[in-house]
Amino acid sequence: MALYRYRCNAHGAFDLTTPIGTAPATAPCPGCATASARQYTAPMLGRGADTAMSLIDRTRATADAPAVVSAPPRRPASQRTPLAPPNPALRRLPRP
Ligand SMILES: [Zn+2]
Repeated sequence: MALYRYRCNAHGAFDLTTPIGTAPATAPCPGCATASARQYTAPMLGRGADTAMSLIDRTRATADAPAVVSAPPRRPASQRTPLAPPNPALRRLPRP
């Protein structure tokens, strides 16, 4: 099925879904039943939201060519997680 756009002079554009290749040159307007001419528009290939489509594309790309790194990313000292202070109870444990 494909979505075709028609334009009524009184009510504006409307869409009609028909099998590919069977779209008539004119279609009746849903508002006034006047024969409306077909409009030729760009194909609607990416109808999803930009963020969602970008995420889907990146996910597919990693399936074919995953990014391999040799080491974890190095953070600046200001962004590193601070080490926990030493626990005083550990000093009382027996030493080997
Ligand atoms: Zn109309």
